[in-house]
Amino acid sequence: MSREIKFRECLSYDDVLLVPQYSDIRTRSEVDIGSQMGQTRFAIPIIASPMDTVSGFAMASKMQDFGGFAVLHRYCSIEDQAEAVTKLYAKMGPSAAAVGITGDYLERIAALADAGVDIICLDVAHGHHIVMREAIDNIKNMFDGQFHLMAGNIATIEGFNDLADWGADSIRCNIGGGSICSTRIQTGHGMPGLETILHCAQSDRDAIIIADGGIRNSGDIVKALAAGADFVMLGSLLAGTVEAPGEIIRTKDGEKMKTYRGMASKDAQMDWRGRYSSNEGVSTMVPYAGPVGNILDDLIGGIKSGLSYSGARNIREFQAKSKFIVQTSASQTESGTHISLKAAR
Ligand code: IMP
Repeated sequence: MSREIKFRECLSYDDVLLVPQYSDIRTRSEVDIGSQMGQTRFAIPIIASPMDTVSGFAMASKMQDFGGFAVLHRYCSIEDQAEAVTKLYAKMGPSAAAVGITGDYLERIAALADAGVDIICLDVAHGHHIVMREAIDNIKNMFDGQFHLMAGNIATIEGFNDLADWGADSIRCNIGGGSICSTRIQTGHGMPGLETILHCAQSDRDAIIIADGGIRNSGDIVKALAAGADFVMLGSLLAGTVEAPGEIIRTKDGEKMKTYRGMASKDAQMDWRGRYSSNEGVSTMVPYAGPVGNILDDLIGGIKSGLSYSGARNIREFQAKSKFIVQTSASQTESGTHISLKAAR
């Protein structure tokens, strides 16, 4: 068998930098980082992941206060998830909840729709799949127009276009890039996160792009937005906070930590299904980080500062103006803090 072998280099967050540009922005308060999803304009382009160590009612409520939102995780009874949606609807803010695409998903969606949910997220590891297409068809037949439909995850523009054509309003982009994800190790499949965003941004479909997974700081968020993302979705950055579900754990050294785990980890699957199949995530602990508001304040400050370095007052202007360069490995070293630890003390 002869076959043509073509390799191409694909980029992720650490491979690039944004070129600083002339700015006439005098204070960060002039920078608007709002982003539109369906009928709703969110004040910040940040979504908390539908994971059982990130997004329950407390996280969703606080994310609402800050002008973003959390997607309520689906690893609980239909009643508990619907009750959280009802409580958010009392708060008058938009609510979002995750469901699967097999089993009782239609029953779950019906209960969430009755509770007034605004966004349903079809939460699947490999979303570019016939079962996703069938699920969207069923949902469109039963609930058309009742809520915004988020779907994913995909890694390519082909996946993005297909999900958009099948009926998804917003699409979670990135496969295998999450901090707790072992999909690339287990299966050999994935695409660098930033590359996926750059490709999906070429699409002529008008579905919303959510950069999901692998985002470690506000610099990564700024790069994802520049590449074309409308929103970012965060897991690890929010998992250590008071509002994330789970107790504070004290290590032997007295350090405070919280559990953070992939939803495809053996741990999570055993807890929720009593058995596990393909194990594509890990379970770990992250340092306790206090109230999520502190983390969001820092991220918002970093994102606004990021836009102003490109002289942009909002995300659309930023996407039109921003210029990427590729970094060498020497430049990557220079880009991190690189003073010797002894001297920094
Ligand atoms: P992080 O922000 O880098 O921690 O990534 C969070 C994202 O990882 C989530 O929004 C999901 O898209 C993804 N994810 C969650 N659980 C798993 C898993 O078990 N395996 C692979 N990806 C996962």
